[in-house]
Formats: sequence, C-alpha cells, structure tokens
Amino acid sequence: AKSAGGNRFELADAEADARAITRHGLTTALPAALERGEFFIEYQPIVRLDDGSVRGAEALVRWLHPQHGVLGPDRFIPLAEHTGLIVPLGRWVLEQSVRQARAWRERFAQPRPLRINVNLSPVQLSHPGLVQDTVEILEREGVGPEALCLEVTESALIGADDDLLKPLRQLSEMGVDIALDDFGTGYSNLANLRRLPLNILKLDRSFTQGMQQFPADPVDLKIVEGIVTMAHSLDLAVTVEGVETSAQADQLRILGCDTAQGWYYARPGPPERLHELALADAGG
Ligand code: C2E
Ligand code: CA
Ligand code: CA
Ligand code: CA
Repeated sequence: AKSAGGNRFELADAEADARAITRHGLTTALPAALERGEFFIEYQPIVRLDDGSVRGAEALVRWLHPQHGVLGPDRFIPLAEHTGLIVPLGRWVLEQSVRQARAWRERFAQPRPLRINVNLSPVQLSHPGLVQDTVEILEREGVGPEALCLEVTESALIGADDDLLKPLRQLSEMGVDIALDDFGTGYSNLANLRRLPLNILKLDRSFTQGMQQFPADPVDLKIVEGIVTMAHSLDLAVTVEGVETSAQADQLRILGCDTAQGWYYARPGPPERLHELALADAGG
C-alpha cells in the first residue's frame, strides 16, 4: 500500500510539473497566438423563459492551440490577466462579438433584436481605454449600445471604489447593459447592488443545480424566489445560468426568472447555430 501511495504521489508530482510547464508555455505563447488568430468565439443562446424566444447570446472565447487542441477560457484567461494580455484579447473578443451582433441584426429584423453578452475581466475594467475602445467598436460596426451587454463578476466589483465604477457608469449611461455575473458566489448584498450601475443579475449555476428534481428542495426555491423578488424590486432582470433540464426551466420560469442559458437550450457553438435557433423561433 505504501509503495502504491508513493507511486501516486510521484504521478501527482509529474502531473503538477506538467501543468506548471504548460502554464508557463501557454503564458509565453499567448501574444503570438493572438497575432496568429488562434482564438475563436463560441456563442451560447440566452432564451426568454416566458415564450422560449432567443434574447441574444453570450460570447465565450476558446483557444485552438496548435499542440494542445481547443483550450477553454479557464485554462488561459487567468494567465492573460496576469500578463495584461487580457486587454488586447478582451478588445478582440469585444470587436468580434459586436461584429457578430451586427450580422445577426441584419438577418433578424426588429422589433426583437438580438443582444450580445461579452465577459469583462476586472483587469479590463481598470484599464483606462475601456470606454473609448467600446465606443469606437460600436461606432465602427454601426451597432447601437443597446445591442451590447457587458458581464462583470461579483468578485470584480466587491469593494469597488468610484474610480472602478466610473467606466461602468459611463457605459451604462450610454445605453450598454451591464450584467452582474456569477451572482450568489460572492458576498453581495442589497446595499452593495444599489450603488452599481446594473441592469441584469446572472444567477450562478450553483442555484440551478439544486433544481434538477421536480419539485426542487423547498429551501432552494425560497432562496431563488427571494433573489428574484429583490432583483425585480431593484429593476434588474434575472438570467439563470446552467439550465440543463426541462424541470429546471419550468421551475425557474414559475419563480419569475426572465431569461435562461444552459445545455437544455444549447451548448456554446458557432454563430450559425444561433441563426438556426432564432430562425426556428421566428417560424414558430
Ligand atoms: P461564465 O461567464 O460563468 O460562463 C458560463 C460558463 O458555463 C461557460 O463556460 C459555459 O460553457 C458554461 N455553461 C453554459 N451552460 C452550461 C450548462 O448548462 N451546464 C454547465 N455545467 N455549464 C454550462 P466556459 O465557456 O468554459 O467559460 C468559463 C468562464 O471563462 C466564463 O464563465 C467566463 O468567466 C470566462 N470567459 C469566457 N470567455 C471570456 C472572455 O471573452 N473574457 C473573459 N474575461 N472571460 C471569459
Ligand atoms: Ca459570463
Ligand atoms: Ca456566469
Ligand atoms: Ca461561472
């Protein structure tokens, strides 16, 4: 047993080493990867719970690494934040996403235009060029601010001072929607939310996980019900993440959540997939 344990530790060490090497390798490869166009974006639809129509989509970045294949954002976003490459990478994601939003707008006419949600790293938030870059991208692509939603995590805004909130306020006043991402994983309270320029609360997947069964745990239901009531009283729409089953979707709709996102509707995918969904929706 002892030698088996020893082997396990050796294996664990080897894996840790490999990971550290990869981490270092990935970090140094990031700038060239951006230049060579190795990043791409998948879009996950966001659906209205009342009628099932497509509200828009969230842009989720991936890296097609020449040796390691497709890497998810959890593998490289922290590295890009650490080196500052997240600023040009984030700008690229924003630009691609806004361009995609324009393409969707051209295909799916009013009155229900699709909105694109883009994740914003706290590093981008404190970068002085954020507001101007965003304005320029929207103008260049001819897309109105109401077609864009920027998602900021709760943890990025915890204890945020006015300097950090100022760009968000400016963007919000321009008409860009601001979503509080991963809500419920941090320590936000009502007082905290009131001082933030928010339009949307994105309820973290951990809440939806408690609703796999029908009926869900009554305590889970009460908690979500309370959050929805609070959000609506603050004029915030509620989007739920990680909806994987129809039981979850039904219960979240009954609780008054506005929009939802998750594998039950669609996994993140190429932009054409959203075309299909939105078209199906227009036809039905
Ligand atoms: P997030 O913003 O919370 O994005 C939602 C994550 O949940 C995505 O993971 C998505 O693929 C996954 N997901 C969606 N529906 C379901 C479901 O029904 N079940 C389960 N189990 N998972 C689901 P992904 O694509 O790996 O992204 C991870 C995180 O990386 C994102 O979390 C976001 O924080 C970050 N990220 C992604 N793209 C960008 C970006 O362009 N910029 C920045 N700064 N961060 C990004
Ligand atoms: Ca997000
Ligand atoms: Ca989230
Ligand atoms: Ca998350």
